[in-house]
Amino acid sequence: MGFTERAKSAIGRAAQLATERFQSPTGTVHLLAALLQDEEGFVADVLRKLGANLPLLRKSTDDLPTSETEEAEGSGGYGLVAYRAMQSAIDAAKSLGNSYEGTEHLLLGLATEQSSDAAQVLAAHGITRDRLFEALQAENDSGLEKLMATVLDGADETMPGQCQACGVSPAIVHVTEIKGNTMRGVHLCEECARKHGVGWV
Ligand SMILES: [Zn+2]
Repeated sequence: MGFTERAKSAIGRAAQLATERFQSPTGTVHLLAALLQDEEGFVADVLRKLGANLPLLRKSTDDLPTSETEEAEGSGGYGLVAYRAMQSAIDAAKSLGNSYEGTEHLLLGLATEQSSDAAQVLAAHGITRDRLFEALQAENDSGLEKLMATVLDGADETMPGQCQACGVSPAIVHVTEIKGNTMRGVHLCEECARKHGVGWV
């Protein structure tokens, strides 16, 4: 489905931050700083749950010089490592079974590129890729449970491809989970997805 609006705006803000700091190309630290600016966002939430001190973490991303690792140009003004982190975000969303790429996947992408400046900052604050992945998976599970309980309970059988909440519009948002050989999930139209707070984090 591509990056959510919130994720896209973080990516845009990262480039802006780099420009303001007279740094080029836009690196992973700029991406991390942009994600951390969103205090009400899901990323801040997850980091808090993992015990990170957000003000301190934010401070570590201030005016951090770009390391040699991040000097190589990637694409569109973003460094190669930053670009790879964004690719990792897409893979992360897939492995979590999410049909959108949100800010939380960007964060996971940053942590996945272990040699990146952002991953080092995160690691210094005790945030590793594995801890993040587990936390997001747990969020996913409880989110799916809640969603299945509210959407599927008492809903009529719907045709395949139809939104399971309203039964009218085509389903375009798919929240799925694969465990062993079984797959379960909820399929919603855009409007119902918004109503249930899915996919636009
Ligand atoms: Zn619907």
